[in-house]
Amino acid sequence: QKLEWAKLVNEKTFTADQFFVELAANIGTPDDLEGVINNGGEGIGLYRTEFLYMGRSQLPTEEEQFESYKTVLEGMSGKPVIVRTLDIGGDKKLPYLSLPEELNPFLGFRAIRLCLEQQDMFRTQLRALLRASSYGNLKIMFPMIATLDEFRQAKSILEDEKQKLVSKGEKVGEKIEVGIMVEIPSTAVLADQFAKEVDFFSIGTNDLIQYTMAADRMNERVSYLYQPYNPAILRLIKMVIDAAHKEGKWAGMCGEMAGDEIAIPLLLGLGLDEFSMSATSILKARSQLRTLNKKEMEKLAAEALKMGTAEEVVHAVKKI
Ligand code: PEP
Ligand code: MG
Repeated sequence: QKLEWAKLVNEKTFTADQFFVELAANIGTPDDLEGVINNGGEGIGLYRTEFLYMGRSQLPTEEEQFESYKTVLEGMSGKPVIVRTLDIGGDKKLPYLSLPEELNPFLGFRAIRLCLEQQDMFRTQLRALLRASSYGNLKIMFPMIATLDEFRQAKSILEDEKQKLVSKGEKVGEKIEVGIMVEIPSTAVLADQFAKEVDFFSIGTNDLIQYTMAADRMNERVSYLYQPYNPAILRLIKMVIDAAHKEGKWAGMCGEMAGDEIAIPLLLGLGLDEFSMSATSILKARSQLRTLNKKEMEKLAAEALKMGTAEEVVHAVKKI
């Protein structure tokens, strides 16, 4: 089986009825690039930049960040690279920021919330990204967006830094897409409004599931409630994809669900454009997608959306 998959490294991903989808990889550091290329990734769907900030005693400098982003952009030779701005907080801490302890860190001061307040740190990252942008196909993504206002603020800070660099004569990529992670239910529900302003969505199911089901993704005791196939989750995903398409935008997914064998037929049927997963899952997903008929999966997804439980959904997928 592994040998069969290996033949697909340089293939594009087409379904049995010739619909194209993009299979990208999630990475944490430039060292992960080799794995992406060896496994036939068509892009980076999520570069988690937290690791640049972790395991050290002070913030990474603009220059250090610039080098990492440039390495990844060049390494992907013009293929899309979605870099997510700092998503710290929740389960990931930075000792040198000395933030107060919180009762509910996953519902607390994290990611874009922190970046909009500690703007120096945010602006440094954005400058590093903008300067690196001319070395490849960069897309910038903001994490944990809960309101339109947060997106507008983050985007205007980005624009501000861009203008400053341009006026200093720095080279900045012409057309950098700016998108958001959809990982908070409010944003999924309001996706039609967001879709008018963002360039793309990437659905972060790891968090979207925990916030929708009110079940901590790290807590074993409630893991039975962490249900990717719950029709409630599928309906939210559908809202996001439909909203994107209505505005001529694209919708991807970078949560674990995107590489899941049971979820893939459903996500294809719901119209997902890009699937981003760990590099080692790409070839398996590509081989699965080649056997699936998109038109049939649309029917499967439509049925699943009308079901009441995750079990029924899984049962329906296993019948195909
Ligand atoms: C997600 O929430 O689905 C996601 C991809 O982000 P992270 O796992 O880094 O929170
Ligand atoms: Mg997340």
